[in-house]
Amino acid sequence: MLKSERQSHVEQTLNTVRQSPHSLLLLDYDGTLAPFRTQRDQAIPYPGVAALLHEIVRTGRTRVVIVSGREATEIIPLLGIEPAPEVWGLHGLQRRKTNGSAQMTQLDEQSLNALLDADRWLTSQQLRHHAEYKTGSIALHWRGLGNRETENLRDRVLLGWKRIADHAHLDLLDFDGGVEIRVPAPDKGDVVRVLLSEMSPDAPTAFLGDDATDERAFEALQGRGLSVLVRPRWRRTAAQVWLKPPEELLDFLTRWLAACRGQNTMNQRNVEEMKA
Ligand SMILES: [Mg+2]
Repeated sequence: MLKSERQSHVEQTLNTVRQSPHSLLLLDYDGTLAPFRTQRDQAIPYPGVAALLHEIVRTGRTRVVIVSGREATEIIPLLGIEPAPEVWGLHGLQRRKTNGSAQMTQLDEQSLNALLDADRWLTSQQLRHHAEYKTGSIALHWRGLGNRETENLRDRVLLGWKRIADHAHLDLLDFDGGVEIRVPAPDKGDVVRVLLSEMSPDAPTAFLGDDATDERAFEALQGRGLSVLVRPRWRRTAAQVWLKPPEELLDFLTRWLAACRGQNTMNQRNVEEMKA
């Protein structure tokens, strides 16, 4: 897609944000708002991101929702916004509303037993120190390992977990820096569909994400909103627009905030381009 075409998607969305009483801004967390850290509990947002989101929330014009693979309770202290926005955790298994109330999808016994099997297999392979345990899933991380080690570990885990996943109809999901075995539904696309159903059909909407699991959300948004890949390097994606963090992400959020305030959303670069 041409750069001008991508820019016009952004301009159109921001114009609608400026004119609409309510809009919806959906954001993945890790890799999108916060750079990856080997220590996952240190993954705080890029400087300036939390303050901008806070201001966007304060305008009362945009519903900000975080949609993450993490537990919702981990996101809130990392993000550090008071009052906390709505957070969907575990790819949509959990929903924590702005009033603090939380909903959790119940898991069936077969899925739980399969996750126990997946964990037993990790124990037998002495791999538990790479694992992150979440409700409804186990993620195995290899961030920080060398290429060769990563490849070996990935092959081993896929071999060990595939049989368990196939038997119990669990999903095996690659993500940036690891692989996850998890109960099959919902995914981020389902989250997007639920949230869209709660908004008026003409409310401008955008989803920002970086990872393979965000592709379902990009697809669910087709024809209904702006899909944005946030990533240092481009990759094949269903998203309409690619932003390089942190500068282009900060620029986008700054312009979204200006749109909520009813201001012109042209950024400095646009102005300079127009002058040229
Ligand atoms: Mg991510």
